[in-house]
Amino acid sequence: MRIGIDLGGTKIEGIILDQSGVVLEKIRIPTPGQDYQQILNAITSVVTELQSRAASRLSVGIGTPGSLSQVSNTMKNCNSISLNGQPLKADIETQLGYEIRLENDANCFALSEAHHGAGSGAHSVFGAILGTGTGGGIVINQQLLTGPNSIAGEWGHNPVPGSVLQLIEDERKCYCGRSNCIETVLSGSGMSQTHKERSKQSLTAMEIAKAAASDASARETLEIYCAHLAQCLSTVVNLLDPEVIVLGGGLSNIPLLYEMVPAQMSDYVFTDAMTTSLSPPSFGDASGARGAACLWPVGEGSDHERMF
Ligand SMILES: [Zn+2]
Repeated sequence: MRIGIDLGGTKIEGIILDQSGVVLEKIRIPTPGQDYQQILNAITSVVTELQSRAASRLSVGIGTPGSLSQVSNTMKNCNSISLNGQPLKADIETQLGYEIRLENDANCFALSEAHHGAGSGAHSVFGAILGTGTGGGIVINQQLLTGPNSIAGEWGHNPVPGSVLQLIEDERKCYCGRSNCIETVLSGSGMSQTHKERSKQSLTAMEIAKAAASDASARETLEIYCAHLAQCLSTVVNLLDPEVIVLGGGLSNIPLLYEMVPAQMSDYVFTDAMTTSLSPPSFGDASGARGAACLWPVGEGSDHERMF
């Protein structure tokens, strides 16, 4: 059994996960605003409560926005701004008194789906988040691929392929400081922007998806989004050649993606017949905490003191 915590912008979810992927305990509390100390205290209180429900001390993994810089050991790239520059992992360990593992939430998503979900049994899984932002995680042989910059899988801040650039009207500024990042077309607001450019209507991605059943211009926007996604994912396949791509985030609920995108990707992938599968997630929002629990192998990191 392992503890997994998902630190989100609006809620902190903590679970106890057993070795077969069953959730035994769950706690969910609101994230206390933007105050770092309060967020820190809330995380450790959830962990402490879950530990009190277990017979022995369990390993703890935490999924967060952004990632931990391996140079400064502080948080970076977080959309929850109060975390940036803070030594979150060290502060949690100081409060708890033992070692934890901490990873980006897109990585936790990919790990969760690779261990117990849509990518279960696959040698290689790319988890792609399509939501408020566009992130990704790579799992090879059930192990998260990490790197010296803690950004493996962060395809959302690659520039869009030239073929996608032809499908958008205006330059799109990204919050990262660059222009025309993949996130600016594949995030929810990216889809909204595409729709606005074409129809002059302001709709959210979910409103566009809903309207597509009866509205030709919304349907067209969805089809263009599918073309964007196919072209952006094809670059991932040419580089990684994953067995399974699992989509996550709010936009992964749009069924048309799974109908249209695989065939369109084949036009851009450097092979005769593409066999990579594109799957909806098994766990949706629950993957953050589940994947965080999977940061520790079953049985490792628990039941004994780890000094640091
Ligand atoms: Zn960017």
